[in-house]
Amino acid sequence: MLPVYRNTQMSHWRRIKHPIVSLETTDKGLEVTFKHTFETNNDIVFFAFTYPWSYSDNLEFLDYLHEKVPPFVYFHRDTIAFSRENRKIELLTISSYKGLCESEEKTIPNLFPTENPRAKRFENKPYVLITARVHPGENPGSFVLNGLLKYLCLPKSTDFNCMNLLDNFVFVIIPMLNPDGVYKGHYRTDPQGLNLNRFYVNPSHIEHPSIYAVKELAIYLDKRLYMYVDLHAHASKKGCFIFGNSLDYKNQVDICLFPKLLGMNSRNFDYENCDFSQKNMFAKEKGDEFSKEGCGRVGIYKATGVLYSYTLECNYNIGIHGPEVDEIEEKKLQEVWLGNKNDMNLEDSRTLEFIMGNEIKKIDYLEASPYTIEAYEDIGKGICLSLLDLNDLNCEVPKNLRILKMNLAANLLKKAPFRFEPALRKIMRALTNPNEMKKALKEIVGLIEKNRKNSENKQKVEKEKLAIVAKNITNNANGGGLKAAQMKM
Ligand SMILES: [Zn+2]
Repeated sequence: MLPVYRNTQMSHWRRIKHPIVSLETTDKGLEVTFKHTFETNNDIVFFAFTYPWSYSDNLEFLDYLHEKVPPFVYFHRDTIAFSRENRKIELLTISSYKGLCESEEKTIPNLFPTENPRAKRFENKPYVLITARVHPGENPGSFVLNGLLKYLCLPKSTDFNCMNLLDNFVFVIIPMLNPDGVYKGHYRTDPQGLNLNRFYVNPSHIEHPSIYAVKELAIYLDKRLYMYVDLHAHASKKGCFIFGNSLDYKNQVDICLFPKLLGMNSRNFDYENCDFSQKNMFAKEKGDEFSKEGCGRVGIYKATGVLYSYTLECNYNIGIHGPEVDEIEEKKLQEVWLGNKNDMNLEDSRTLEFIMGNEIKKIDYLEASPYTIEAYEDIGKGICLSLLDLNDLNCEVPKNLRILKMNLAANLLKKAPFRFEPALRKIMRALTNPNEMKKALKEIVGLIEKNRKNSENKQKVEKEKLAIVAKNITNNANGGGLKAAQMKM
């Protein structure tokens, strides 16, 4: 972790300049020791665990968006429910006017408690559902969302990519799932001490109103729901990454495609760190009574069958890739690199490979510097660009989805439990050399046939053994009738 600070003269929060000295778990909780040089005398300086984003910051930001949104963007703001302490749980509906119907969406039982009219219906447009702050302390999730909201709501009319996105999708967004926890400064729970992200299996509209609202909304959208993303923050694992569900092989390639694209659209996101394991769908975390089966990503998938259902996590402090080596300019240096310019070591850079169109592009990155608010917002914009890519709608930097999918399929096979099978290894090698594919496939067909015969032989031997055992038992029973009768009694 790396705390932030702000004095009365500063307009923004900034990371402290020195790495923290120590982190210790004590009886009272986590104790952090850090060094800070005060810049002015007699000034009040505030310190915080991460960049703050409060309940009122969020209300002000939504007011600002509502005021600034250009007339060609459809923006509807509604209260989907009230929290247990009577705070608004807001729902935004954002799209273009393409496909807009005269009629409104229906109300959903126990939801939309105000007189406000419901959002308009849209014809033939898939819906993207996004939520944040179920864990109230996870502010980076809000900054990712803000980046996405700025991209969608404050576009220039010449931004064809953004218009493409709004013409093809409707975004339904709940920016704060746990407004009471946010208001009270809780880290992970609501005022009742509940981790709300464990109640998606059977949420109650009284006990867990926001969770009930998300689930009912997802079920109401039914086949129209295209994607669900729940935004979080992470304290231990570096970088920004996704937890996705674990399904069968074909669906898994599709599930991995969106995060893969996100890694290509935002250098602050790391595909290599994503986790799509079955284990992670049902795991229990330290201190949690309930498993992740009750979390948003798994719960919404189970309720609706939506394939693209993700938890997006950002580290509170630091990413994995720094800026591109070529990008560095003298004047930008202080912004992207907190240390002294002379401390920067170009030897620290690492190379990552990207598939752009049909080519593999190599980019040298410096070691990561701590995340700024802009870095989180860039991930939000990356979500938008990746949605375009996923649907071949990106008019600026189109990606070759076929090559990407083949690449993902080959990589997934490498991780499969049967990956050590020699014939399969041959197939995997053949994927890069199509001339060998035919031969490799022939071998795998032969292998399947051989396995089938082996298993038939095995079954035959087992059957014969069983017949001998059965015969022995019958003989013994006939010979010792009295004993058998006594035993029955
Ligand atoms: Zn979380």
